[in-house]
Amino acid sequence: MSLETSSSSGRGSRGGLSMGSSRPVPPIPEAPAPAPAPTPQWTEFSTTRSASSSRGASSSSSSRHLKKPRRPSPTSSSSEVLPAYSRHAPRVPAPPTDERSIKFRNILHQLSQQPERYENPGLLDEALGVIPLSRIYAEAEEESQIYQVEAQSLGKEKGKWGYQDCVIMALLKWFKRDFFTWVSNPLCQRCNTADMDERPPTPPTPEERARGASRVEIYQCKRCGGFERFARYNDVWTLLQERRGRCGEWANCFTMLCRAMGFRVRWVWNSEDHVWTEVYSEHAQRWVHVDSCEEAWDQPRLYTEGWGKQIAYCIAFSHDNAVDVTRRYLRNPRRCRLPRNRCPEEVLLHILNEIRDTKRTKLGLSEQERKRLEREDRHEEKELKKFEVQALIKDGLMGPIQEGEKRGRVSAGSADWKIARGEDGASVRDQSGRRNKSGERLQPESGPLDEAAYRMEQDGH
Ligand SMILES: [Zn+2]
Repeated sequence: MSLETSSSSGRGSRGGLSMGSSRPVPPIPEAPAPAPAPTPQWTEFSTTRSASSSRGASSSSSSRHLKKPRRPSPTSSSSEVLPAYSRHAPRVPAPPTDERSIKFRNILHQLSQQPERYENPGLLDEALGVIPLSRIYAEAEEESQIYQVEAQSLGKEKGKWGYQDCVIMALLKWFKRDFFTWVSNPLCQRCNTADMDERPPTPPTPEERARGASRVEIYQCKRCGGFERFARYNDVWTLLQERRGRCGEWANCFTMLCRAMGFRVRWVWNSEDHVWTEVYSEHAQRWVHVDSCEEAWDQPRLYTEGWGKQIAYCIAFSHDNAVDVTRRYLRNPRRCRLPRNRCPEEVLLHILNEIRDTKRTKLGLSEQERKRLEREDRHEEKELKKFEVQALIKDGLMGPIQEGEKRGRVSAGSADWKIARGEDGASVRDQSGRRNKSGERLQPESGPLDEAAYRMEQDGH
């Protein structure tokens, strides 16, 4: 809404952006009941150790009592583990104590830094310079009028999406079609062919490192035998110039561009090697899924229903929050859920609370702003809870799938690559999950999306 008033002045919409200052946000409808502390979260399995470690943190013997029952081992395969929806006991956050949980905590803390990189006025100014603003605003204006007319014809007061939403949709379209390029493997400069073999990666050169390369992939041309480097950049400044990459680079750059246009954004990390964006819609009063690689707007079931992806964790990071948003993307846990065994659920809750509190303290929020964010947190928890309850009631049966969600992945280059990742849509039919090129099932693994997380996993700490 704030954007609607400032949009006529074009680049003026960036006025509210600065390091550490939070933009004005419309009030969120009051949640009917005050949230208990701690906030109830998605109940999953946890280890016996977590149940005992949470005792110290909890004064509630009743919740301890409720937590005890036959919980499946976290190492069970997903097909053996039934959704733990029936356990309504609020999770009591518990600090990590075992090595595995501590490692996951470190990874999540590293990942949580990603959106902090966007809170840089110089960067956002530079980013605004590359966006064709007048074209985006004109397209958004036209599109939002269509939604309005549609609403009027249906006797509704409000269109399905507002002007701000249409701005993101137009940005998404431009980003995917005109700005960023998908790279499966680099072209051979001599033969202009993509017929390349991947070789072991190499460390970045000093120049590549200076531009923020985290690692460099090496490819050898099958025709001339020449080598090509593909540096993987995590630095958004460099990505503005490079304008190419895979989902990591796409999501990183696109999320930053949304931020540059003045929106509240989240960078969503998925433990099965994908990342995407969420943008807060003032019109819909909720966070909306946006995948720039796929030009997908508000299609959260795309990954499970379209690609046939199986999911353990989806964690959304913004500069003022860290939220487990898995329930938004995993609506059919019986079929598509992978075991959540990186740490007990109580520990995950503790880690995310810790990240959120650190971020909010650093921002120096006023009491009023803090309360508003807390209301928003409760509002979102209700929304996520609704998905959970729907899944419970339907017990694996789902509501109607939107047209755009019924498709295999379009952003990736090769069919083999999609098959290897279990994203070609086939596993929706055969339920076999990730497979290799020969069609054999692979164990899920977390991909090297974020270099920090990748390095930590490689180094084993
Ligand atoms: Zn060649």
